[in-house]
Amino acid sequence: MRIKRTIEDLFYMPRSIISEPTRKTMRYIKKHIPKISIIKFKSGKKVFDWVVPNEWNINDAYIMEPNGKKILDFRKNLLSIVYHSSPVKKWISRAELLKKIHYDDKLPNATPYVTSYYKKDWGFCMPKNKVKKLKKHKYFVSIDTTFKKSFLEIGEYFKKGKQKKEIFFSTYICHPSMANDNLSSLAVQIHLINYLEKKYPKSNFSYRFVFLPETIGSISYLSKKITILKKNMIMGFALSCLGDDNQYSIISSRHGKQLSDLALNSALKGKKKLVKFSYLDRGSDERQYCYPGVDLPVTGFCRSRFHSFKEYHTDKDDLKYVSEKGLKNSFEILKNIIDAIENKNFFPKNKFLCEPNLGKRGLMSTIGKKFYKKGKMIKNFLVYADGKRNLFEISNTINLNLNDTINITNKLNENKLI
Ligand code: ZN
Repeated sequence: MRIKRTIEDLFYMPRSIISEPTRKTMRYIKKHIPKISIIKFKSGKKVFDWVVPNEWNINDAYIMEPNGKKILDFRKNLLSIVYHSSPVKKWISRAELLKKIHYDDKLPNATPYVTSYYKKDWGFCMPKNKVKKLKKHKYFVSIDTTFKKSFLEIGEYFKKGKQKKEIFFSTYICHPSMANDNLSSLAVQIHLINYLEKKYPKSNFSYRFVFLPETIGSISYLSKKITILKKNMIMGFALSCLGDDNQYSIISSRHGKQLSDLALNSALKGKKKLVKFSYLDRGSDERQYCYPGVDLPVTGFCRSRFHSFKEYHTDKDDLKYVSEKGLKNSFEILKNIIDAIENKNFFPKNKFLCEPNLGKRGLMSTIGKKFYKKGKMIKNFLVYADGKRNLFEISNTINLNLNDTINITNKLNENKLI
């Protein structure tokens, strides 16, 4: 199945932290990954310094002129209200209305995505160009929303491996209809789980994937699982915005140089548009996973990073903004990381003392310079294949992309050299 199909299936839904559309999204994920289990947190529950909010649902919202014409209709654009708006139904002046309207300065034709999760408020979102045209008369504003006590839901997929040591992936499911942020990562994560199940039914490592609402979801999850995560996690990835094909972004873990940092750096080695961000540029759930005391080895992975593409958090982050190619390329990077760590030669070790004769095995040309470069790379690999360095470290040391490093590993294994 195309990865983008998942995004198309889930696009037109007004999700928030807890809402009927978010539950529906979780049911969709469960349909594709039946082994997922749902962890629930009751509204009002205290999780560290936060409180799980109430469920919020929206039936309808609009702004109407005195002549009965709707100048904003939530049903036509799911981003046109502030998420978690309180209900309202009244006539207001243009000046009052302007105080309640949000727009994007940089993209005057775009409707921005705005939330007010932790402060009681209401508001609308519309393109700046439309705001400028608002005439000086009264407006009828209507927001039909409801709040009720319910449960925050987290989907967790756990795959037990031969080892207790585990690899962790996290993405968030609380955003309404935007494609790159963040249905793209939700889609890639579903496909990655399917790949893992098919390719490694008996995996060496254990794997844990979570689908949760951003921030409050990861905080709730950590409040329940921090001990086991700290005990077993050897590397983790916070996935966000993986659907465009414009650039690759790494957001370093707080400590840096964790196994997850090494893994992403090696998997992305040689990519033309690679941008490396420090932990100061964090923005998604790596904020919680790397927090002092939590200290999990989690690195952020995005294509165009949140906050840094102009369509970010607007209705221009639509189905046209993401591509199957972009999604596939993101999937390949994470797949290569799993392939490397599951490789039986993850810590490759030379079988010979001194350099083996690569020429007689056809691994290096004995005459001419033509194959010298390839042979040199194999030799570089072998000098660090001392049984102490893993494939991520070797890839970074010899400056060779992880996928090519895996290919050399398999070739040397076939030739019984490691
Ligand atoms: Zn976002």
